[in-house]
Amino acid sequence: MTKKIALYPGSFDPPTNGHLDIIEKGSKLFDKVIVAVMINPDKKGLFSVEERMEMLNEILKDFPNVEADSFNGLTVDFAAERKACVMLRGLRALSDFDSEFQLSLMNRRLNKDIQTVFLMTGMRWIYISSSIIKQAAQFGGEVKGMVPDFVRKKLKQKYKKKK
Ligand code: ADP
Repeated sequence: MTKKIALYPGSFDPPTNGHLDIIEKGSKLFDKVIVAVMINPDKKGLFSVEERMEMLNEILKDFPNVEADSFNGLTVDFAAERKACVMLRGLRALSDFDSEFQLSLMNRRLNKDIQTVFLMTGMRWIYISSSIIKQAAQFGGEVKGMVPDFVRKKLKQKYKKKK
């Protein structure tokens, strides 16, 4: 039987407990989950792609069927290259739905063999986004319990260096 592989694409700048929740749920549904960092030269993030990969690799240690990778170009092309038949996305609130709906229809048009599967976030992570974490952390706000500990340390180091 062919393995069901899901690709979970995103910026992960940085990865949060909300992302982790989707990864955990996805790892139970699919044989393999590939968490894929999108390389976007026009959008400079706080963390480099290498730093994001380092954080993901650390966080994903406990998940034997999940791995991290990064890619350039069209997400559907990368999904096909990695033999993924599913694109995994997380939904927080109604506000996510609009853009995610548009994106998934476009992706389906680009490659009809890849379906997007949406997973609802756990209630605890409904308001968590990478941007809100950065907004709080840059002014010394405590983000414990909202991001994995390793990420929390990396955020502290990053903002210390910037000062
Ligand atoms: P963000 O939207 O925080 O910048 P990404 O671009 O890395 O994050 O998003 C990748 C995927 O993860 C998207 O499908 C997004 O909806 C989902 N996601 C982000 N934060 C959460 C969360 N707190 N709970 C569930 N899914 C999330």
